[in-house]
Amino acid sequence: MSALPHPAHPIDWRDVGDQLARIVGAKHVLADPDSIDRYSADALTPYRAYYADAAFDRLADLIVRPADTEQVARVVALAQQGGIPVIPYGGGTGVMGGILPVQGGIILDVSRLNRLLKVDPPSLTAEVQAGMVLQDLYDGLKPYGLMPGHDPYSVPIATVAGTISTNGVGYRASAFGPMGDQVVALEVVLPDGRVIETRPVPKQSTGPNLNHLFIGSEGVFGVITRATVKVFRQPEANAYATVEFADFADGFAAVSEMTALGIRPALLDLTEDGEGILLHLLFEGFREGVDAALQRTMKICAAAGGWNVGPQSTLDYWRHRHDSALNYRETALGRPRTERWRRQWGRTFDYLHMSLPTDRVLEYRRQADELLAARKINVVEYCLWSRPEFFSMLVVPDGDRRVNGRDDYDADVRANLAAGVDEVLTLAQDMGGVMEYCHGVGVKLHHLLARELGVSRDAMRDIKRALDPAGIMNPGKLAL
Ligand SMILES: Cc1cc2nc3c(=O)[nH]c(=O)nc-3n(C[C@H](O)[C@H](O)[C@H](O)COP(=O)(O)OP(=O)(O)OC[C@H]3O[C@@H](n4cnc5c(N)ncnc54)[C@H](O)[C@@H]3O)c2cc1C
Repeated sequence: MSALPHPAHPIDWRDVGDQLARIVGAKHVLADPDSIDRYSADALTPYRAYYADAAFDRLADLIVRPADTEQVARVVALAQQGGIPVIPYGGGTGVMGGILPVQGGIILDVSRLNRLLKVDPPSLTAEVQAGMVLQDLYDGLKPYGLMPGHDPYSVPIATVAGTISTNGVGYRASAFGPMGDQVVALEVVLPDGRVIETRPVPKQSTGPNLNHLFIGSEGVFGVITRATVKVFRQPEANAYATVEFADFADGFAAVSEMTALGIRPALLDLTEDGEGILLHLLFEGFREGVDAALQRTMKICAAAGGWNVGPQSTLDYWRHRHDSALNYRETALGRPRTERWRRQWGRTFDYLHMSLPTDRVLEYRRQADELLAARKINVVEYCLWSRPEFFSMLVVPDGDRRVNGRDDYDADVRANLAAGVDEVLTLAQDMGGVMEYCHGVGVKLHHLLARELGVSRDAMRDIKRALDPAGIMNPGKLAL
């Protein structure tokens, strides 16, 4: 990972803390060991950060919790002057280690920027502060008969800016696209403290759309402080359906045909696990559209060899879609790092989310199966989520040994799993796809990003140098 140039003098953290306190108030600068510990990790456990063990050794030096954009700008300008790393922090629910302070510095928690500023029903937009938790956005829009388009498992715990910065994918992505597609305008504090605002209109022909510099950028180009996002009418009608297939390829053919025809259900999830192969579907929208989409989809599925098994399984699936995050909120969020890690120790597994050109997906699965079988790594679940290109695998090494702690695992099993995971991720790259479509890069996939980006990495580095010459914004991320 690239290192920050060493400041001319060692940093006097007490002095920095005093200066920060003058900006945000003393109670919003945290330096106690408990807070430092809690903030210095997200939902990534060290076990699954196969090539980034060292990233967990460095903790943040200070935590700061600004109240508004002006305070964020002053904090960032102060850090710029001192050459101090700044790591934007939303809900801390990322699963790749995006907020890990790999070079120490200041974690900038935006959770006090949590207000819904404006709802604009005619424009179908809402203006919202960066640190608002998605569930609060759902609740705030409900009285207007509106809802956001992004609905990940982590609705109860993830923030607007965190989901923009990872370009996350959710249950309604088939209809509305990933979080990045919901962004209409952004307010961003640049690494030198200047504030830029893009305009809240759906389209421009006045130069490139700068929103895209910050979507999926994991905080390396600035701190998002406000977003105007698309919102949607709550559906007038909905219909749940579940279709079973004897073969994943048949389900894949049905999903591809639906997509090509322009059918966009809210939910589209084709999962193969030990129980069978099920396509979960939810159609939402205006009554005639829902009926027509359901009918045509059932014909497509039947033609591909599927059979309708009724809506119940999908109703259950939908009802429980946020359970894992509710559980995470109860048992992990805000707890000490070691306690969080203990909760997740146990089974040795990994969950991989590749995106491939549609015509390569089935061939990819075949080759990935061979690579993993050679290493005695089992795939216990295959999934297409929202699009035929978005292919996931839940992998478990043979024997499924237990992991009991950061330093208490079978090193050979871990090394074999790590190597197998890298083989299938690089296979996705080599087949024209990307190694991750959902959660970002963080520290977990950092070592593979350069080979995916090629010359694009140089262009990204040039942009980074121009905007952030001292490299203070979330250093050590995105291979910059
Ligand atoms: C139980 C559980 C279920 C999950 N389900 C899903 C899912 O269905 N779909 C999905 O996509 N993800 C899922 N995730 C992962 C996680 O919720 C997402 O990655 C989410 O987008 C992170 O949001 P956050 O607010 O917690 O961001 P954080 O983890 O705080 O930050 C993520 C990245 O964004 C940057 N960032 C945060 N705030 C800002 C800001 N204001 N300005 C600039 N950069 C910023 C950080 O520096 C970091 O690099 C799940 C996680 C858990 C624990």
